[in-house]
Amino acid sequence: MSDATDFDLVILGGGMTGLTLGYHLAQQEAADSTDKPQALILEPRSNYSRDKTWCYWQHEPTPFDEAISHRWHRWRVSCNGYTHVSESATTPYVRVDSAKFYEIGQAAITASDNVTLRLDDSATQVSPYKNGVSVQSKSETIQARRVFDTRPTPTPEGILLQHFVGWEIETDVDVFDPSTVTLMDFAAEAEDIHFFYVLPMSPRHALIETTHFSTQVLDEADYAAEITDYLHQRFEINRWQIRHQEQGVIPMPRQAPDLSRRPHSHIVPMGLHSDTVKPSTGYCYPHAQVQARRQVDALCSNPEAMTVPARSRLNRWFDAVFIGFLERHPQRAGEIFFRLFKNVPTDALTRFLGDNAKPADYVRVMLALPKGTFILQAMRHVWRS
Ligand SMILES: Cc1cc2nc3c(=O)[nH]c(=O)nc-3n(C[C@H](O)[C@H](O)[C@H](O)COP(=O)(O)OP(=O)(O)OC[C@H]3O[C@@H](n4cnc5c(N)ncnc54)[C@H](O)[C@@H]3O)c2cc1C
Repeated sequence: MSDATDFDLVILGGGMTGLTLGYHLAQQEAADSTDKPQALILEPRSNYSRDKTWCYWQHEPTPFDEAISHRWHRWRVSCNGYTHVSESATTPYVRVDSAKFYEIGQAAITASDNVTLRLDDSATQVSPYKNGVSVQSKSETIQARRVFDTRPTPTPEGILLQHFVGWEIETDVDVFDPSTVTLMDFAAEAEDIHFFYVLPMSPRHALIETTHFSTQVLDEADYAAEITDYLHQRFEINRWQIRHQEQGVIPMPRQAPDLSRRPHSHIVPMGLHSDTVKPSTGYCYPHAQVQARRQVDALCSNPEAMTVPARSRLNRWFDAVFIGFLERHPQRAGEIFFRLFKNVPTDALTRFLGDNAKPADYVRVMLALPKGTFILQAMRHVWRS
């Protein structure tokens, strides 16, 4: 195998993570443009359109903030007939319009002299060799020093999954309270962990999601029936127009992928099917923003730089303990989430959920949880790992 490289980096997938990496690579300043890493992004779609709603608690600005369409400072969690409303003046829960996100990413890449986004092409084979990686695409063979692989991979069997369907609907009458997001409404009896999520964009416009944490996904008709019943019962409406639908399956492994144990040093998995997604929450967008920026900064200061994991070992451990608890006690999930939102100060909890916790935040979270059960779960995890 030749050591000649066509690109310093090839990014497989120009989705959320791939375009974020591409954006930061495109923004790198260098005295001489030949000093910048030359990167190629391979993306099978031929054009971008709005396909997802990305929400998260915004702790810091990102270059994609113009894609934020809505901000909320209040959110509620409901369980067993109780509702708790949290408020934060400083950390809003924001909604990113994916169409606008893709536009910002593409514009930065088009304006750059070191990043190429090639649409309508995909990797068909990826073969590592001693000093690099050979990527076979639909159109050619490419040699790269390093590959960031954001392609989807099959979901492993037997692990907890976060699976959901969302309908963005419009109604003819005022129904929703646009001041407050419903993060979790454990409204229905279920054998697994099941809650509804309501993102109110206006009194007549909202995204309603039915979400399960379990090992088996449902039939499409089951999700549809759940949303329909919820709209009837919670909002007492019988008429609405579905403007947009989305669905997802997000892996929640207890042993999340560990970049330091990846099989090939020159192939770095990133994104939803790697360590970027936070397995205990399913949030991936804010973590991809931080990881991609740090990874590109590291590479640009040292081309042989190590990979940048999405979170610390402590946060990985908390995720593992929490997922282990959910697997063993699914019937207590609603109560546990409710306790967290009610008993942990709002900004401490959003920092914890965003992997930005201060030492005191960890203590607050631990104090809010049922001690005996969590200590047992923590010991179980230490013993197994
Ligand atoms: C419906 C939905 C809603 C979500 N909502 C949220 C949310 O509110 N907040 C949050 O934080 N996270 C959310 N997520 C999770 C996560 O943020 C998204 O899934 C996000 O798109 C993951 O980014 P990614 O780059 O890993 O994957 P993608 O954005 O899916 O990108 C992967 C790319 O790989 C490309 N590809 C596939 N095969 C190949 C190939 N052979 N060669 C090259 N490229 C290939 C695909 O075309 C795709 O563009 C949501 C997920 C879904 C599905």
